[in-house]
Parts: sequence; structure tokens; C-alpha cells
Amino acid sequence: MIADPEVLRRLREKAEKDGAKKNLKFTCPECGSTRLQLVETRITVSTPILSVNTKGRVLHGEPKYDLTENEESWFECTHCSYRPKKDGADIRGVGELIEWLQNSRGNSPQSESEQQQQS
Ligand SMILES: [Zn+2]
Repeated sequence: MIADPEVLRRLREKAEKDGAKKNLKFTCPECGSTRLQLVETRITVSTPILSVNTKGRVLHGEPKYDLTENEESWFECTHCSYRPKKDGADIRGVGELIEWLQNSRGNSPQSESEQQQQS
């Protein structure tokens, strides 16, 4: 789940403890765009129909979004569709996205190879 409030709360607490509460910038390594989007597929949207009149006007309520079992989601560059990856797979969830953004240029200067040398 991308927007699990419990996960977000824990990440926020951790970031505050680390004193690292700042907005992370996305910069596409392929095209340099700074616009990132979340794509979700195979989602069922159920919208209650409140009324239909003879002129064809439909009044509907709040749509409800249900992820199906084999739902797929990924982050991608809005401009060129580049997908940030972790270990060759699409990033899943906010935690991995934060990790990716922190290791990308424009954010933390520490690269993945530097981290490996330290450990
Ligand atoms: Zn791009």
C-alpha cells in the first residue's frame, strides 16, 4: 500500500528524530524533469449513483477505490516515464521512494557506493 497512514507516521517520526525533515527533490536521471507521478493499475472504482433524471443528469457520491489483489503501482517521471528502481524492480511504496530520492542527485550527497564502502 502506497498511502498506509501507519507507515507514513513512522517515516515522519524517524525523519524528525534524524533532524532530516525536508522535502526531497525528484530529478529524472534520463531527462532531467522534476515531475514525478504515481501510476496505479487494476483498481476498481465504485461510485454510488444517487439519482438519475430524465435529461440524463447523474448525481453521484464519493467514489471508493479498491485495489485488486494483483494491483500494480509504480512511480515514474511525468515527462519520459522513467521508473525509479530498487534492485532492478519498480519501487514499492513511500519508504523505498524516500530511499531512492535520498540517494539520487540533488538530495543527499552520499551515493550508494559510498554507503557500501562505509559498512
Ligand atoms: Zn524523465
